[in-house]
Amino acid sequence: MAVDSVLSSPLGPPACEKDAKALRFIEEMTRNADVVQEKVLAEILTRNGQTEYLQRFKLGGFTDRLTFKSEIPVITYEDLQPEIQRIANGDRSHILSAHPISEFLTSSGTSAGERKLMPTIKEELDRRQLLYSLLMPVMNLCVPGLDKGKGLYFLFVKSETKTPGGLLARPVLTSYYKSDHFKTRPYDPYNVYTSPNEAILCPDSFQSMYAQMLCGLYEREQVLRVGAVFASGLLRAIRFLNLNWKQLTHDIRTGSLNPRVTDPLVRECVARILRPDPELADFVANECAKESWERIITRIWPNTKYLDVIVTGAMAQYIPTLDYYSGGLPKACTMYASSECYFGLNLNPMSKPSEVSYTIMPNMAYFEFLPHDPNSPGFTRDSPPKLVDLADVEIGKEYELVITTYAGLYRYRVGDILRVTGFHNSAPQFRFVRRKNVLLSIDSDKTDEAELQKAVENASQLLREYNTSVVEYTSFADAKTIPGHYVIYWELLVKDAAHSPSDEALNGCCLAMEESLNSVYRQGRVADNSIGPLEIRVVKSGTFEELMDYAISRGASINQYKVPRCVSFTPIVELLDSRVVSVHFSPSLPRWTPERRR
Ligand code: AMP
Repeated sequence: MAVDSVLSSPLGPPACEKDAKALRFIEEMTRNADVVQEKVLAEILTRNGQTEYLQRFKLGGFTDRLTFKSEIPVITYEDLQPEIQRIANGDRSHILSAHPISEFLTSSGTSAGERKLMPTIKEELDRRQLLYSLLMPVMNLCVPGLDKGKGLYFLFVKSETKTPGGLLARPVLTSYYKSDHFKTRPYDPYNVYTSPNEAILCPDSFQSMYAQMLCGLYEREQVLRVGAVFASGLLRAIRFLNLNWKQLTHDIRTGSLNPRVTDPLVRECVARILRPDPELADFVANECAKESWERIITRIWPNTKYLDVIVTGAMAQYIPTLDYYSGGLPKACTMYASSECYFGLNLNPMSKPSEVSYTIMPNMAYFEFLPHDPNSPGFTRDSPPKLVDLADVEIGKEYELVITTYAGLYRYRVGDILRVTGFHNSAPQFRFVRRKNVLLSIDSDKTDEAELQKAVENASQLLREYNTSVVEYTSFADAKTIPGHYVIYWELLVKDAAHSPSDEALNGCCLAMEESLNSVYRQGRVADNSIGPLEIRVVKSGTFEELMDYAISRGASINQYKVPRCVSFTPIVELLDSRVVSVHFSPSLPRWTPERRR
């Protein structure tokens, strides 16, 4: 029930006193966005002014925006590579940050095929936790009674490595789940999970998922929300249930745990809830054995009020499948974050996915916005870009996000394109438009045009002995299979029909493509099982000409026509599919180890 109106917030009546405090904080930050931003920049520049990086530029001790903008260059990851490499190799001097770099966060964005390494400092954990602490108070405004049950969240840690200099390198969520901030979080009735920490922290993805699913089934009546970080993760959990329900219901029936779960900590925590429950086992088995899995989520967890998953950006492709499995439950996209920095939250989390806007929290970092014009040639040293401050962006315009963080990124281009949809107080709200240069994405992988091109080139080497070449290609992220997978359409020129490439050779091409793709893709294939085997669909000769005719009939200019290297528009995919002469899949897994190749 809402608390006393004395605590009332412009966002709505808070559910409890703790929520009132969080909502007041959001109000304070968003009302004073520009002042907070000025303060954040001054703080960052004051504490890091003596770092090697900032000393290179003539700030002269000034910490104001004007000096900052005129002296500090706008950069990308590639520009920072030498500094990052030195830190990774063990140089502990104050290169980027006056505070010690505590670890590297491995972004799903890649550079030369490997995950980008983002330096971070200890106190950033507090900032992340602060943003997390704002999510439920906002959600409670939209969905009452979430303290009366639990959340079934499928959360996972991923493998970590050490850099040559001994710093840990791991994904930001792995770092967060392994931190005391998460492990020893105080009890909060609005944030009770069915998954025990030990299950979340188990590095083996099968055992982790198995334990989390089993606990979620035992507590099916208490579950009020079902979630994962990204939509692809929740679908993977559904697929897991589909593949393992017989063993899971066997465990529930007998009160014994699948011997494949060997991690002693996981066995111990599951033992605390494990009991023979033949009635529950019958119920789950009966639902899972039905031919149709439509609404399976609400059938098994009937009190689910919403799905908590990100379905904006590349994840929008999963909305129809999620709707199918959940009977169209609301999908809450609660936050917008990255390894570099957590950016902000959705103040209207029950809005339709197509209407989701994120409000950037001005206390998280110093934010600037590079006006995005897809037709402009970019900028040079002689014509530096004019970046706009957080409070000065204009509704309807698109910008690329540029950040300056406490951990030592200065005017760093994140690569996300955002559109301003409105303001909450003086803080702008943004629709996530897309990530720059991403052609294909199934889970957290991001494959760009150059990577795809290189993969096609490498794979087509295998066709040389057949005197065959790839004359055209395009791609499609097939989100209908679980897990989703890359489909590459190839039009071949077979010069000697009597000696055309064998099935085996073309299957080999699929694997060769996978071997050429970046490490995030290969990790998804090998360790996370979040991406299915790559598929090549060979199309009839002349198909790409038909594709061009189709584009021209829809108004494309014949002079400027370029073969799209990725397609998603249904009529085009249908046209391609209707011309397929053979399909081929990767016969095995590509190589991947947690160690970086360089
Ligand atoms: P990473 O650096 O691997 O943590 O990935 C961060 C990137 O994921 C961001 O820069 C965005 O491109 C994307 N991302 C994060 N949150 C969202 C969201 N809520 N909606 C759409 N894309 C997101």
